[in-house]
Amino acid sequence: MAADMLQSIELAAGSGPREVSCPLCGAAAGARLSGYDRKVGPQVFAFLGFSEPVSRWTVCAGCGFVYQNPRPDPVRVIDLYARGLYRERREYSTHFFRNRYRYPVEHYRWLTRRARVPANPRILDIGAGFGGAVRAFRDLGTRAEGIEADPALVAAAPGRFGVDLRRGNIEDIELEEGAWDVIYSSHTHEHFADVVGVTRRLRRLLAPGGHILLVLPTFRFGARNAQGFLNVFHLSMFTAPTLRKLLVLTGFEPVAFRYPLEHSRPEVWAIGRRADEQSRAGARRDPSGLVEWEIRRGPAIFEAVYRVTDLPLRAVRALRRRIEGPSRWREWPEGKS
Ligand SMILES: [Zn+2]
Repeated sequence: MAADMLQSIELAAGSGPREVSCPLCGAAAGARLSGYDRKVGPQVFAFLGFSEPVSRWTVCAGCGFVYQNPRPDPVRVIDLYARGLYRERREYSTHFFRNRYRYPVEHYRWLTRRARVPANPRILDIGAGFGGAVRAFRDLGTRAEGIEADPALVAAAPGRFGVDLRRGNIEDIELEEGAWDVIYSSHTHEHFADVVGVTRRLRRLLAPGGHILLVLPTFRFGARNAQGFLNVFHLSMFTAPTLRKLLVLTGFEPVAFRYPLEHSRPEVWAIGRRADEQSRAGARRDPSGLVEWEIRRGPAIFEAVYRVTDLPLRAVRALRRRIEGPSRWREWPEGKS
């Protein structure tokens, strides 16, 4: 990070990190952990008002939610992205860009298998990066749009994936309410200072019956690199049970959960449907018990597979490739990236 940029950042006094109670259930007690901030430069900690370069975390005793605590001032968190302080690497590989296109294809296919999405849906990507997901979703026959906080990424998106993104933060950007069929948050939700407030806003943006599709890094106790995602950029670390709690709290019906074992990165995926008054008061639509099973068993299976070694993961990937074949992936053309 350029030194002149840092000098231009003026920090208000008295807005350093603060202790909070659990954002999901309000409980104050919990186990304490230190983050894994090895790749984060000291300038980020300084910008966020930390006196030492380490993030600290609480595992809520009430609901199991893993959240950064004490937490930086929300205004600084929002500002961090607008100032481009999140970009850790300047050089990106071909592989990186190919995945920015093909992973969203996989996410969207899972969504359409598990939820009823109208034809030609209107989709909003709330942390669009270089625009790979917006491109992929458009190629799949949707009306996709994206917003991105970092101006450098917005500037790069047309050249990279041929899409124009809107510059802004989901916390305050002007967006049409009740207008979206799908809202997509991939590796974005864990960055919000007020994740409950943002998710409530997303519910208002959705049309009746609209869906939220969440793809998030998750946390593993006891596994190798278990705390890899516990770094100062992340304010929350969700699992299926705590994601369900977030969805219900913010006016969604939980529709599906998944721990994708074929990926090298530990992730949890979730789909929520905008709940209306009727469905909130009435029965949950899970007659087969599948969603409940995914929430209860998903984390345990995930932990078991990852805990032993990486070998089972490789086997799962190889098996999946054999069954589905490489042609199942839609590839972003090499020449473009
Ligand atoms: Zn809690």
